[in-house]
Amino acid sequence: MPKRIAIVEDEPELASLIEYNLARHGYQAQVLNRSVGALKALEQSRPDLILLDVMLPEIDGFELCRQIRQSAALARTPVLFLTARTDEVDRVLGLEIGGDDYMTKPFSPRELMARVKAHLRREERDAEPGAVEIGPFRLDRTARRIFLGSRELELTSTEFSLLEFFLMHPGRAYSRDQLLQSVWGEQRNVTPRTVDVHVRRLREQIEEQPENPRYLTTVRGFGYRFEESA
Ligand code: CA
Repeated sequence: MPKRIAIVEDEPELASLIEYNLARHGYQAQVLNRSVGALKALEQSRPDLILLDVMLPEIDGFELCRQIRQSAALARTPVLFLTARTDEVDRVLGLEIGGDDYMTKPFSPRELMARVKAHLRREERDAEPGAVEIGPFRLDRTARRIFLGSRELELTSTEFSLLEFFLMHPGRAYSRDQLLQSVWGEQRNVTPRTVDVHVRRLREQIEEQPENPRYLTTVRGFGYRFEESA
């Protein structure tokens, strides 16, 4: 069964270009040029991933994403925003909207395909009940255990949650605040410094040279990123 990708984009030329590239890569594309009625169409087609333009007339992409997240049929479908403005990126990544990722226009078809593929792979991992392998790591979410090669890591509950988050979102940079929101949630008494402390402890367990990390790298002036294939 080919994976199905929906494109909500009001620029017909861009929508066609994306549709063409998705088809070339074996995906089944559904183009929606208007946001009005899009929610209903998406609920019926239940795509595996949604590419969502931010600047749409009538209902904008942010509002549509909120509706998607409230829809029982679509709540867990990955949403990748297409945005023309870099100053919107913070809002896209804001967890209250519920987007999974973003592409800044103009983007190359190759870049988009790589991102689509990465998100679909992540979804497959999420759906697997047993242990999943990410590079040399093996994550058993049910038992809350993580192995690096044959060695089981000794992790506190928070360390497990943080490393689990990184393993499930490889290749993407996260700010300290984003990590706090995603991993620590509503807990009080945590600061961006809390993230640094936990990253340092994780590095001591997973890196051969913690001061020169291969997997858990620093994104200068921003935060951290997990590299699946170091
Ligand atoms: Ca647009």
